[in-house]
Amino acid sequence: MEEKIINEDIQGQSLAIEKTIGNDRKLYIESYGCAMNFSDSEIVASILSKEGFNTTQKLEEADLVLVNTCSIREKAELTVRKRLEKYNAVKKDRPHMKVGVLGCMAERLKSKFLEEEKIVDMVVGPDAYKDLPNLIQEIDEGRDAVNVILSKEETYGDISPVRLNTNGVSALVSITRGCDNMCTFCVVPFTRGRERSREPKSILQEIEDLSNKGFKEITLLGQNVDSYLWYGGGLKKEFVNATEMQKATATNFSSLLEMVAKAFPKMRIRFSTSNPQDMTLDVIETVAKYQNICKHIHLPVQSGSNRILKEMNRLHTIEEYFELIDNIRRILPDCAISQDMISGFPTETEEDHQATLYALEKIQYDFGYMYSYSERPGTMAARKLEDDVPETTKKRRLAEIIAVQREAGHYRTKQHVGKIEEVLIEGTSKKSENDWMGRNPYNAVVIFPKENYKVGDFVNVKITDCTSATLLGKAVELSENN
Ligand code: SF4
Repeated sequence: MEEKIINEDIQGQSLAIEKTIGNDRKLYIESYGCAMNFSDSEIVASILSKEGFNTTQKLEEADLVLVNTCSIREKAELTVRKRLEKYNAVKKDRPHMKVGVLGCMAERLKSKFLEEEKIVDMVVGPDAYKDLPNLIQEIDEGRDAVNVILSKEETYGDISPVRLNTNGVSALVSITRGCDNMCTFCVVPFTRGRERSREPKSILQEIEDLSNKGFKEITLLGQNVDSYLWYGGGLKKEFVNATEMQKATATNFSSLLEMVAKAFPKMRIRFSTSNPQDMTLDVIETVAKYQNICKHIHLPVQSGSNRILKEMNRLHTIEEYFELIDNIRRILPDCAISQDMISGFPTETEEDHQATLYALEKIQYDFGYMYSYSERPGTMAARKLEDDVPETTKKRRLAEIIAVQREAGHYRTKQHVGKIEEVLIEGTSKKSENDWMGRNPYNAVVIFPKENYKVGDFVNVKITDCTSATLLGKAVELSENN
C-alpha cells in the first residue's frame, strides 16, 4: 500500500452525507489518512444503514460519531485527538451522543483508548466492522465496547458500500486488505493484519453496480495492489499450501486488471498503490494494452539510498527500481509516475540524502508525496533504530527533496501543453464557477471553460497552458468514450 497511507492527505476530511430513507438515528463519520479508510467508511455506513442510522454532515445533530483514524504519522494521531476534544464540546449539549474510534489508531491502542480518552465509548479495528451492530448495542446499554480482532478472511466483499460525499463519477473499489511486507517504518501490518485478496466476482459485481449508477471511473484499491492473489480465499502467505488446481486457476493482479478492463470498456480504471518489489512486467503490459486503464503509476520508493532501503526492509535496490522505471517508460512512454519519499529515516547520512536527490533528478517524477520521518510506536524501526536525525536536518532535507520534485513536476506538466487529452469532468473548478475541473488519464488536473458539457462527460481538451501542477485548456469535443 503503502504509501497512500503515508502520502495521502493526512488532513482530515469529513465524509458525511445526508440521507433520509426512513432511518431515525443520525450517524456522523469523519475519515482520516489513506484511501482505504475512506473506502472503509463507506462500508461502515452501509452496515449501519441497515441498523437504522442515517448519515449526516452536521456533527451537532449526530447520535453516533465515528472517526476513522490513521496511525501512519504522529501528526495524524494528534489531529484525531484534537477532533475528540471537539466532539467532547458538542457532547455537552447532546449527552446521549456516543463516540466510536475506528481504523488504525483503534487497532494500535485497543482498549487503552478508552482509558486515555474519556469521550470514547467504542473502539473498533479495521476487520471488525461487521460487529458494529453488536458493539452499538453494548454502548446503548451503557457498557464500553471494543473489538480489534484482526481477521484472516474478512474482505467485506459481500457489502455494497454506501457512497459518501460522492461526485457520482469516481469511486474506490477495495481489492485487498492488510499487508505482508514488513517495511520497518510502517504500522500497517500491525493495524490491518496479513494480506488477503477479495474474490474477483464480488469486485466485478461492485463495478457493475457502480456502472449502472452512472459512475465513470474506479480506483482499485489495496495496500499493495501488485500483490493481489485470489486462489479461493485465505491469506496470501498460505498460497504455498494451495492445491495444484488452486494454483493453476489463481488470479493475479494483471489478470484482475485485464478482467475489469475488458468487462467495462467505458469505465476508466486506476489502481493504487503499487509496490516496486511486487510490480511485474505483465501489469505494465496490461496497462499498455487497454485504453481504459489510466496511464499513471504511483510507485513509492521512500529513499534513493540502498543502505536506507535495506534499513527500511524494502526488498529491492535502487538499481532494480531504476530498471522498473525504465521498463515502464519503454512500454508506456507517456505514463505519469509519482513517488513517496521519506526524509531523515534513522541513520540517514548526507550521502544517503544525496542519493535520494539523485534518484529524484534522474526519474523526474510527475508528482510526489514527501514527508519527514515520524517514528511510530511498535514498528521495527521504533524498536531497533534510534530516531537520530535531528528535526532541523529532517526538515532541511525535506525542503531540498520538495524543491527538486517541484521543478521536475513543473517540467512534466509543461509536456502536456499543446496536446489534446481526454478529460473526465469531476465537478466545478474551486477557483471559478465558469470552469470545469477534471483529470486526464495521467491523473493531472485540467481546468477548462464549462460550455455545454456536464459532470461525468469525457471531453477531449486542448491543453493551452499550465501552472506548476495544473493544466488549463479548452474543450474541443465530446470524446468517443461517452
Ligand atoms: S508495510 Fe510497506 S508495503 Fe506494506 S503498507 Fe506499509 S509501507 Fe506499504
